[in-house]
Amino acid sequence: MISSSNLPPAANRGASQPRPIRTRMAPSPTGTYHVGNLATLLKNYAWAKHHGGRFILRLEDTDQRREVAGAAEQIMEVIRLYGLDWDEGPDKGGPYQPYRQSERLEIYRGYVDQLIDQGHAYYCFATSQELAEMRQDQQRRGLPPRYDGRYRDLPLAEARARVADGQPYVVRLKVPLDQRIAFTDLVRGKIEVSSADIDDQVILKSDGFPTYHLASVVDDHLMDISHVLRGEEWISSTPKHVVLYRALGWQPPVYAHLPVFLNPDGKGKMSKRNGQVSAQGFLDQGYLPEAMLNFLMILGWAHPEETEVLSLAEYVRCFDPADVSAKSVVFDLGKLNWLNGIYIRRLSADQLLERLRPFVPGDAPQDKLSDYLELVKDRLVKLNDFEALTAFWYRPVRHQADQLLKKSSAEQVVSQLKTTSQGLAAVTPANWHAEQIETVVRKLQLNNHWSKRQYFMLVRYAVTGQTATPPLFETMAVLGKSETLARLNQAQQVV
Ligand code: GLU
Repeated sequence: MISSSNLPPAANRGASQPRPIRTRMAPSPTGTYHVGNLATLLKNYAWAKHHGGRFILRLEDTDQRREVAGAAEQIMEVIRLYGLDWDEGPDKGGPYQPYRQSERLEIYRGYVDQLIDQGHAYYCFATSQELAEMRQDQQRRGLPPRYDGRYRDLPLAEARARVADGQPYVVRLKVPLDQRIAFTDLVRGKIEVSSADIDDQVILKSDGFPTYHLASVVDDHLMDISHVLRGEEWISSTPKHVVLYRALGWQPPVYAHLPVFLNPDGKGKMSKRNGQVSAQGFLDQGYLPEAMLNFLMILGWAHPEETEVLSLAEYVRCFDPADVSAKSVVFDLGKLNWLNGIYIRRLSADQLLERLRPFVPGDAPQDKLSDYLELVKDRLVKLNDFEALTAFWYRPVRHQADQLLKKSSAEQVVSQLKTTSQGLAAVTPANWHAEQIETVVRKLQLNNHWSKRQYFMLVRYAVTGQTATPPLFETMAVLGKSETLARLNQAQQVV
């Protein structure tokens, strides 16, 4: 038997030894990493750690046509940005290496030969044109598309002669004609299909690469994977895998197929068209990785005490895939925003400032950042809100006449603005702080019998160009005396 490892695979180990828990995530480097994959990874990670087992990262790069350069490195990087890591993997190695399928072609080849020799697989020489015609014919007759088995019974000697002759071929699994194929899914219970409904899958492609089905079965077995937790989009593949396990004489792992996420509006499977789906994209928007992980933990799973704010350690302690809901779950952005706010407010001012660095625009004055933060941190939902919440302090403001006037006359507004700027001009720079500013402004309002509502809103808008801001006097203090006066004067020119 060919083995990639120097440790014995499960089948060779003594029956008395308890099986160590080993889970895996097996991304294909075909694009950006989807947040649904991250959620699946988190569950695999937690289940391994729950048992003191190992979590493995395997790269499934057998589809050469769909491979995207650099995707593997990006996937590994984003997983680590979320604070997760693997015990064995392509960059770290491990006792079952290599962990990159393109480096394991010899191993798959050995099992393909074994399956052919034992009559569980066969060479197929159908050309792509032949297959296209077959499909068209089935379509015309209203039949589901499937391989018609035309090379299934070709004598092996004849097939080998054709191979020796250089004819292109693939290898297909000879799915038994009439068997019940059953497996137990931790989330969905017993699942049973008839082998008659399973196509003779290609297991080795004409380029000499295995298909996903073969490579993942061989590797899950050789890498001693005990549990496969994966998205429900793979559930139709699992009976094929079970057939392969039987043909190879191996015991399948325990399966759990996890529900897909629905778009935030509850309609349809979460997709790019409806917003952010990439794991990196959420970080780029300023979701904290720990808030995202917490959100993914409670999406379709509940803590025994219904606690919603959970650490990774607590999740690892309580998680059990059998408790995952089988129902599709809405990717509730409201809840994610709520959690992100909680995690943002748990950070100290220094920690938050550190996290904010990548989101601070180049024109924001560095020495004012902590003052800004102090005033806006309660309104920060995502870190990238920082710019929109603070820009009025360091970028020119533009006033709209109607916002300044509201129901007042131009004369009144100009007089209010002028009086205010004169009053504030008398404050010495050393006294330019919120309390002193407030004393001056309140006194003006009282002495002139101005409507408090109208006047304070006018000052707020004149000074910031906005109607909703952090507390007015603190905001003016941080803005500084000369800029405050300049804006009060600028507003007078507009009405
Ligand atoms: N390579 C597959 C993927 O891209 C792995 C599926 C599985 O977990 O078996 O997700």
